[in-house]
Amino acid sequence: MGAATLLEIHDVRRTFPKPGGDQLLVLDGVDLSLREGEIVGLLGRSGSGKSTLLRLIAGLAKPQGGTLTYLGRAIDGPAGGVAMVFQSFALFPWLTVLENVEIGLEALHLPEKEIRTRALAAIDLIGLDGYESAYPRELSGGMRQRVGFARALVVHPNILLMDEPFSALDVLTAENLRTDFIDLWLDKKLPIKGVLLVTHNIEEAVQMCDRVLLFSTNPGRVVTEIKIDTPRPRERTDPAFEDYVDRIYVEMTARRVERVPRQAPTAGVNLYAPLTHVSSSLIAGLIEAVAAAPYNGKADLPDIASDLQLEIDELFPVAEALQLLRLGDVEGGDIKLTHMGKRFADADNNERKEIFSRALMSYVPLAGHIRRVLDERTNHAAPRRRFIDELEDHMTEEASQETLRAVVSWARFAELFSYDKESETFSLENPT
Ligand code: ADP
Ligand code: MG
Repeated sequence: MGAATLLEIHDVRRTFPKPGGDQLLVLDGVDLSLREGEIVGLLGRSGSGKSTLLRLIAGLAKPQGGTLTYLGRAIDGPAGGVAMVFQSFALFPWLTVLENVEIGLEALHLPEKEIRTRALAAIDLIGLDGYESAYPRELSGGMRQRVGFARALVVHPNILLMDEPFSALDVLTAENLRTDFIDLWLDKKLPIKGVLLVTHNIEEAVQMCDRVLLFSTNPGRVVTEIKIDTPRPRERTDPAFEDYVDRIYVEMTARRVERVPRQAPTAGVNLYAPLTHVSSSLIAGLIEAVAAAPYNGKADLPDIASDLQLEIDELFPVAEALQLLRLGDVEGGDIKLTHMGKRFADADNNERKEIFSRALMSYVPLAGHIRRVLDERTNHAAPRRRFIDELEDHMTEEASQETLRAVVSWARFAELFSYDKESETFSLENPT
């Protein structure tokens, strides 16, 4: 007989209203299950709807479609037995560690003595022994996060939902907490039956999970499942570990760049495609790194990421920008410089600006659009509102700002037009 199913999610859909009145489709057709004894990872880029999905599971919000069942029952509001660990916790500064953990039990209305016993046990378990009477301000970031874990564990939940719980910590602290958590899990000391771990960190997913579910963006949906079969604890230097990381990289990259148009857009089309801001120096840095030995124009994305000390969330937008500007091609986990990309690598600063400017005018219609508006105006200037309003008719406020930020910084490098933050004005004056 198989392990009991803790959580079953089928065809879940969730939208949010956009400022213009349209709906933003964040989750669509989400399927997943969590069985007893499993740690399942949900790996996706930021903005893909992972936190939204966790809120649905926790019963804090409702889907517009689909079903969520917990222990065979439809989720309808917050359920006992489901606890959440967040990226960073709002600890009460005026309460001690012990009191902050006991808060987790408030809703259960247990006898005082049991509350104390369970809180002390959770504190002990998570490595906070001796800090019971300390106040949050006296603790390091890692210790504070442990208090958060203790607060979630003290209720002895069936399911622990973890929303990027290690991402706000420095590298070493995060690694310690991960290792401690996995050790406790393997020793069956944690009072929980299953874990759903949300992360954007591939290594973390491979280190911790039995199964990793890749989550797509726009809309968010589980697109692939990858079983991690190597025994734990897992070493990052183990070739099998690296193979899993590579495989996930390739899968994610392949799915990611589908959204970037491969053909030159005709004028007017794609004018309102959202852009991700990536600094021109990062773009130049990636081009230079790929052009140089040992890559000589073509590199494995995982290799180049670790060379540049970039995380997945940071590398993808840069690679995507290269692809958008036709300076590079991303395919099957590799990035390959185009003819223009190679020329950029060899060029001096002036020629680089020219190449960049031409790429912007050809492949980023919004840059050309702004330039034309400025060219046509007698004072060659226009207020920010002129463009932000236009963008907001087609995308969210947040995406509009990000898109404009990207275009402004690229145009500045290309000396295509300039933008004055103070007066919020676009103009053709060279900022220098
Ligand atoms: P992730 O956790 O993967 O980074 P989120 O679930 O936080 O992603 O957000 C996914 C998308 O849904 C984002 O575009 C975000 O702006 C939008 N979103 C999330 N919550 C709300 C909300 N309450 N109202 C409107 N939009 C929201
Ligand atoms: Mg999130």
